[in-house]
Amino acid sequence: MLKKDASQLQVIDSKHSSENKNSIKLVGYSDKINDPAFKKYLKNSNRWSGIFSIILGIVAIIGFYIYGESSNEMDNPQALFIGFGIAGMFISIAMIQIIGRKRSKTWDGIVIDKKIKKKNRKSKDGYASSYIQYKVLIKKNNGKEHEIIVEDDDTIYNYYQIGNVVRHHAGLNTFEKYDKSKDEIIFCNACASLNDIEEDYCFRCHCPLLK
Ligand SMILES: [Zn+2]
Repeated sequence: MLKKDASQLQVIDSKHSSENKNSIKLVGYSDKINDPAFKKYLKNSNRWSGIFSIILGIVAIIGFYIYGESSNEMDNPQALFIGFGIAGMFISIAMIQIIGRKRSKTWDGIVIDKKIKKKNRKSKDGYASSYIQYKVLIKKNNGKEHEIIVEDDDTIYNYYQIGNVVRHHAGLNTFEKYDKSKDEIIFCNACASLNDIEEDYCFRCHCPLLK
């Protein structure tokens, strides 16, 4: 607790002194990834995915049961079975997410390309709308490629430059840049929120920012 207070003071201090600001070292991968806050964050997000999917499942089962009882179009147990099917789907999706996070490994890569494309999509009611797709292409050390795709928002696109060396941390969302010395922003590696480079902790999830 004392340590946190001290570092917060440092941040406040650095905002008022340009000398301090320039002396912050922002090159290299941060050892703050070993902070127990990240493990805790992962554990909590897995727990919430599980709980949320079970709640959605229960709502689906109850909803379809009521539908079966009250509607003329479908009777129980037919409606109830559909409810169970949908509940199973919600829970399976959550489990796939959780297993995916647990299986994910740390890897290093390099940004090799960036692309902007104007795209069209058709909505359910048949109207076509256009959107802009921002793509950042990362080549992993094992030769495979990874794409970051964002629609209608160029923040991530502008954040990564071709040639940037980046690291993906197991189970986490965003990529840590090796060299953050020219940046004014930093993405939280746990919840992906955008933070000011001068902050030490994410404003949203309070995980340490990797710098
Ligand atoms: Zn965060």
